[in-house]
Amino acid sequence: MEPSTGTGGGIAERLAQVRETIARAAARAGRDPAGVTLVAVSKTRSPDEVRAAAAAGQLDFGENYAQELAAKRAALADLPHLRWHMIGHLQRNKVKLLVPGLHLLQTVDSPRLVETLDRRLAEHDGRLDVLVQIDVAGEEQKAGLAPDDAPALLDALRARPRLRLRGLMAIPPWTLDGEGSRPYFRALRELADRLGLGPGERELSMGMSDTYAVAVEEGATLVRVGTAIFGPRG
Ligand SMILES: *Cc1c(COP(=O)(O)O)cnc(C)c1O
Repeated sequence: MEPSTGTGGGIAERLAQVRETIARAAARAGRDPAGVTLVAVSKTRSPDEVRAAAAAGQLDFGENYAQELAAKRAALADLPHLRWHMIGHLQRNKVKLLVPGLHLLQTVDSPRLVETLDRRLAEHDGRLDVLVQIDVAGEEQKAGLAPDDAPALLDALRARPRLRLRGLMAIPPWTLDGEGSRPYFRALRELADRLGLGPGERELSMGMSDTYAVAVEEGATLVRVGTAIFGPRG
């Protein structure tokens, strides 16, 4: 394991391995690997580690906390081509930290958040791409919307043109390996079918370090990978 302040040679190698794994999983599923966006999850990582990944061609980065995302984005303002994804629960009082300037908010899970986002966007006539986070396992304490509540939230989003629905996101319960997650990934894809999501609304964000290959096999268009790129979190 290299020190977190290192030059990031290890990061470039691991990124290449992850991209290769994605390409192989896509090939197994008969999919074009270009249809899968790798989001490097940079929570707890330093701006220098993000720089090392960016130097290796990585564009998309995901963060769990609004303050951390805003601080890192500011520290890396000299790399304006980076695309920041919010993948953690967003409290309504933190919306103004992130908007404008967010590439994709992956965790929309309530009508009240939709309302707050729309108000904030109206202040500067902004637009924001979003995913609706679904609780595919029906775990009470987990973030995300019950599948039965999704249609109403989609209606709320479609009534607000500043918010553009791009698809669905899920964090399945932890399992020992990717195979354990497969039924949840499949459930998310089937939900997208049942909801009748259109061509521009078909992103599926699912899969993490231990599960992204299976997620790609099951139709993920976004995978969120931290440890496999940056090493274990300290
Ligand atoms: C931390 C996190 C990831 C990445 O997890 P790894 O196991 O480090 O790949 C992906 N998605 C979400 C929502 C996370 O919080």
